[in-house]
Amino acid sequence: MRIALFGGTFDPVHYGHLRLAEEAREAAQLTRVLFMPAHISPFRLGEYHSAPHHRLQMLLLATRDNPHFEVSDHELQRGGISYTVDTVRYLRAQHPNAELYLIMGADTLAGFQRWRQPEVIAQECTLLVGVRPEYDLNAALDSLPAAIRARVHPVPMTPLGISASAIRDQIRAGHSIRYLTPPDVIEYIIRNRLYVEP
Ligand code: ATP
Repeated sequence: MRIALFGGTFDPVHYGHLRLAEEAREAAQLTRVLFMPAHISPFRLGEYHSAPHHRLQMLLLATRDNPHFEVSDHELQRGGISYTVDTVRYLRAQHPNAELYLIMGADTLAGFQRWRQPEVIAQECTLLVGVRPEYDLNAALDSLPAAIRARVHPVPMTPLGISASAIRDQIRAGHSIRYLTPPDVIEYIIRNRLYVEP
């Protein structure tokens, strides 16, 4: 079993996330990618985000046609601030014999040293890092201790300069978000009037 955790705020999930997960799945021959929305990200304290059930529901809609993709509400159920190391420990307890992976973009790797117990995370998981042209992967790698750097596996991916914040801005400005995220997600956003208020 090769299981990858893919955490984020996913407010909303978009094709950048989905493509990274798919290319990581192929590159590492993953059995399963577990999309896990954070309850509260330690780096986004005080930021306003959509209610957890909306972020979860959009993930379910976006991933339901991929048999390798799964959505977990574990961090939402745990509540409080979501530390990845706690989630990794939970996954290890659930799957003692699995190969564990953690998926992230190169921008996220740049801040990995500031996470709680990054060395424990890197001990348990291979880090599948999506290469993104607008972020310097080598600089991020240079900032890491050798033990963590050795656990990084770069994943070349189709460059998609999509971000959740840009999607939220587009909606607020009254612009189309077509082709940035799956149609079911767009329909959900419209139906629930997400991101219209500043
Ligand atoms: P925001 O714009 O609100 O910061 P985001 O689009 O970056 O959100 P997150 O939920 O914060 O989305 O990201 C989760 C993970 O997905 C991060 O590791 C990030 O690097 C990665 N990611 C986000 N957008 C892309 C993209 N377009 N291509 C590759 N990876 C991405």
